[in-house]
Amino acid sequence: MSAEPEAAIENLYLEQRTFPPPSEFAAQANAADASIYQRAEADWQGWWAEQAGHLRWMRGWDTVLEWTPPHARWFVGGQLNVADNCLDRHIEAGHGDQVAFHWEGEPGDTRSLTYAQLRDEVGRCANALQQLGVGKGDRVNIYLPMIPELPVAMLACARIGAIHSVVFAGFSSRALVDRIEDADARTLITADGAFRKGQTVPLKDNADAAMQQTSRIGACLVVQRTGEDVTMRDGRDHWYHELVGGQSTDCPPQAMDAEDPLYILYTSGTTGKPKGIVHTTGGYLTHVTATTRLVFDVKPDTDVYWCAADIGWVTGHSYIVYGPLANRVTSLLYEGAPDHPAPDRLWEMVARHRATILYTAPTAIRAFMKHGPELPAKHDLSSLRLLGTVGEPINPEAWTWYHQHVGAGRCPIVDTWWQTETGGIMITPLPGLTHAKPGSAMRAFPGIKAVVVDEQGQPVERGQGGYLTIQRPWPGMLRTIWGDDQRYRDTYWSRFGPDVYFAGDGAKLDEDGDIWLLGRVDDVMTVAGHRISTTEVESALVDHPKVAEAAVTGRQDPTTTEAIAAFVILRAGYEPSDELAAELREHVAAEIGKLARPANVLFTPDLPKTRSGKIMRRLLKDLAEGRELGDVTTLANADIVESIKQHTTAGG
Ligand code: ATP
Ligand code: MG
Repeated sequence: MSAEPEAAIENLYLEQRTFPPPSEFAAQANAADASIYQRAEADWQGWWAEQAGHLRWMRGWDTVLEWTPPHARWFVGGQLNVADNCLDRHIEAGHGDQVAFHWEGEPGDTRSLTYAQLRDEVGRCANALQQLGVGKGDRVNIYLPMIPELPVAMLACARIGAIHSVVFAGFSSRALVDRIEDADARTLITADGAFRKGQTVPLKDNADAAMQQTSRIGACLVVQRTGEDVTMRDGRDHWYHELVGGQSTDCPPQAMDAEDPLYILYTSGTTGKPKGIVHTTGGYLTHVTATTRLVFDVKPDTDVYWCAADIGWVTGHSYIVYGPLANRVTSLLYEGAPDHPAPDRLWEMVARHRATILYTAPTAIRAFMKHGPELPAKHDLSSLRLLGTVGEPINPEAWTWYHQHVGAGRCPIVDTWWQTETGGIMITPLPGLTHAKPGSAMRAFPGIKAVVVDEQGQPVERGQGGYLTIQRPWPGMLRTIWGDDQRYRDTYWSRFGPDVYFAGDGAKLDEDGDIWLLGRVDDVMTVAGHRISTTEVESALVDHPKVAEAAVTGRQDPTTTEAIAAFVILRAGYEPSDELAAELREHVAAEIGKLARPANVLFTPDLPKTRSGKIMRRLLKDLAEGRELGDVTTLANADIVESIKQHTTAGG
């Protein structure tokens, strides 16, 4: 190979522009002084202690951090209650009548809950759980759609010190059984059914199927949502409205140790068996409260904040429930699909509720792009002042579209990198300070030490890529994998040593030292001795005007180790052809370099995604290599695999 492609690969930043915060935004920002970074760096434990000071503690901590790698204990000796911090203290300060959640069901029904009403609901639910025998440290499995009872149930657990394990309502009974068994949950909270794209999903039937496969569940609370017929087993199953409705609202919050577990949440499982990530009380709440305030710039008295994720994922735990409530934010909570009954449902809701902050995923933004800018343009989005993304690398094309067609050039965008394991945001712009670059998550949040390292664990130079590590404990970090501490050590703390957290993602530092996420290290392809990230090739493809979405995978190749296979969804109005495939291959070669030119371009109507909307490259690899497909239990659109097999038209 000549040196030419190497040089081209060095020059990968498709987008060189920077977007400074608009001056009106900067003038009012919660983080408005750039010295915040130096201040946090100079005394990072002191900085986190200062953040913890924003919470209400029932007993002060003795020690900020005890660090016995790879185990951290934060705010040791301190006691607090998460529900007390999210509800009671705001009510006591006179904000009981402020709306906590404006909820909207998929069929269009609505319900608003003030902080005082939410606390009453939480108190009743907590008393009902206690009546069912749930106590401190017990695991409660929650399998609910996006209805108000979901945050209520989580906060009720937090109030009495039970550990919740939320399972996304789109998961099958098999996934539910695995998570019930792994966490050894004895109580289940579910609903009769869930609405999804105009249909109902029989949640209780799924739960029944699960409870047939595991005998652990002794009590099951059932919320009535869709009104469909369900079987209630005497002695085990209870209607939520009957049992909870009859309780007293009064339930004093338990004083919890800072290190008592708050919840277990399973990772989305894109890379294998899901891991039961354990988060604790004081450090976690400190981390999500500080990041909500400084990254989302929330103003409790005026903002209408909308995180359009599902509470079944960590994004919803941290940035629908705990972070916003701890900051006394008014949020939207939406039950259904963002494109139901029409593809502009989301924009229609932003306009109607005058939402000011919107946090969503790149996969959603790309789906909206497919429909064109006319849809957001039909609605008055002038209330928006800040936009955010999470979940996958955002390609500059989607970033720019979001900035222009949703934010009208007025709203800073925070591209936030973090994981189920990290509990809260780790790498992100600060919207009043950062000169954002489309496609870059920019810098570590104050107090966080993110280092991109090479194979040997040495920090890479600017302009180089490598492995993303976190080289200092942080308060929201996972404490272990439930029931498998060895896996915790092996997965995160063995690659570069016991005090270096290995995130599993690849990243690149640009010449300014800003961080560009490249996707999972497993997704990095080796082509003729060069490491090329799937993200970079996908970004180049989506940059082409005829391409709506793209997913790239390496497949084994006898001469180049791996050859690049690209799966491409075209924008409306374009037809697959050999000529177009050739055009796209050349487009990538021109953007990145000849080495990155896909060997195959396969046109497809859809892509296999997880329930959280992430592309499952593992399946695409199997398809590209013609192997039988692996485990697809977490695949949102399993029938897609069939359709990909049948409809994929190979070009190039
Ligand atoms: P599993 O670990 O079970 O395979 P998962 O990693 O998809 O599942 P999550 O914890 O929900 O589960 O996702 C975290 C991952 O999502 C990160 O490691 C990263 O790969 C990706 N990610 C999240 N936010 C961003 C972002 N802003 N930019 C790039 N990648 C992101
Ligand atoms: Mg992961």
